[in-house]
Amino acid sequence: MKKRLETLCVQGGYQPQNGEPRQIPIIQSTTFQYATSEDMGKLFDLEASGYFYSRLQNPTCDTVARKICELEGGSAAMLTSSGQAANFYAVFNVATCGDHVVASSAIYGGTYNLFAVTMKKMGVEFTFVPPHATEEELNAAFRPNTKAVFGETIANPALAVLDIEAFAKAAHAHGVPFIIDNTFATPVNCRPIEWGADIVTHSTTKYMDGHGSAVGGAIVDSGNFNWLANAERFPGLCTPDDSYHGIVYAEKFGQGGAFITKATAQLMRDFGSTPSPMSAFYLNLGLESLHVRMKRHCENGLAVAKFLKDHPAVSWVVYPDLEGDENYELAKKYLPKGSCGVVSFGVRGGRKAAEAFMKRLRVAAIETHVADARTCCLHPASATHRQMNDEELAAAGVSPDLVRYSCGLEDSRDLIEDLDQALNG
Ligand code: PLP
Repeated sequence: MKKRLETLCVQGGYQPQNGEPRQIPIIQSTTFQYATSEDMGKLFDLEASGYFYSRLQNPTCDTVARKICELEGGSAAMLTSSGQAANFYAVFNVATCGDHVVASSAIYGGTYNLFAVTMKKMGVEFTFVPPHATEEELNAAFRPNTKAVFGETIANPALAVLDIEAFAKAAHAHGVPFIIDNTFATPVNCRPIEWGADIVTHSTTKYMDGHGSAVGGAIVDSGNFNWLANAERFPGLCTPDDSYHGIVYAEKFGQGGAFITKATAQLMRDFGSTPSPMSAFYLNLGLESLHVRMKRHCENGLAVAKFLKDHPAVSWVVYPDLEGDENYELAKKYLPKGSCGVVSFGVRGGRKAAEAFMKRLRVAAIETHVADARTCCLHPASATHRQMNDEELAAAGVSPDLVRYSCGLEDSRDLIEDLDQALNG
């Protein structure tokens, strides 16, 4: 029976059999035992599937990955220890030293840093394009060594809604996969695979966990990208892997399994950014109510955005669901149920006024965190984006007066009263 998204949030990934625990079992074990060395050898050769060491795979983590896979409509998925690890693995799985990636400029500051600084040192070059780039601008960014396109469904903190179909079309025209970070929208509000995305990533630390309990990430493969048809571009997936006795991932595990198997067998083995089973359990608790919480986050977001829009101490408001917003049409297309609970706005008076406003907040807490049950607030120019110069800030859609306000699950009237007193000074 095909289950709806709301049912998958609650029950996806785990079907207990007669007499088995109703809640997902926490397999808090680093290791797994076998009757013979031959049995274990088959696992090491990727000849048989099973668990041998929790740095690579763990049954609890896989149960939760399966739920996220079902929610996104993918073919295979894995959990990682953070959203950073998810984005690094997703890109590094196809682009290594000497390769190039096209990325939206409106992305999370940590991801920008990972790409523009750390991965650059590893020999991967990035070209950043505006999130609303034209077809010509997008096509002009590609090079012969381009291996992927990357973007965020809703950019953190710029809140630009990506034209997913346009980015997917450009990627496919150049024979490369489109990787999208769907953290802010979650599959409740957008399923990017349905719009042409090939790989979906998440910082599960945000809405998916939703309660500030566990840092984590996820990667979901759509199974739609044909690696073998573009074999010359993806030797890592389409030529023998010496560290696994010459296995060719795309041949042995097929279009639906190659990407996640390679990321697990190679990248998890070598870098080991695996979540603990306990963290996966917390994440699953969050996922069980994701569909209920996202609705409330969006209702609060819209109420707060409407209030801020008319406030004399506010110079501008960006919220995709606000009529007249630059992203409104794209939001209606890709996020018809609502976007997220995050509202960006400018405090009249610039950087200093924004800092003073932050100090007066009583209900919203100052945190780098976002997308949580408790309302939180951040001034990015002095925190998450401080490594960027003014030009880079402008390209990422972050101005010095920008405040990112993440509506939690509280009563919106309390949020609005708090904002009002803090803005009035
Ligand atoms: N992607 C997005 C859109 C984010 O907002 C974040 C963190 O805020 C990340 C990735 C990184 O995730 P994590 O903090 O779980 O490493």
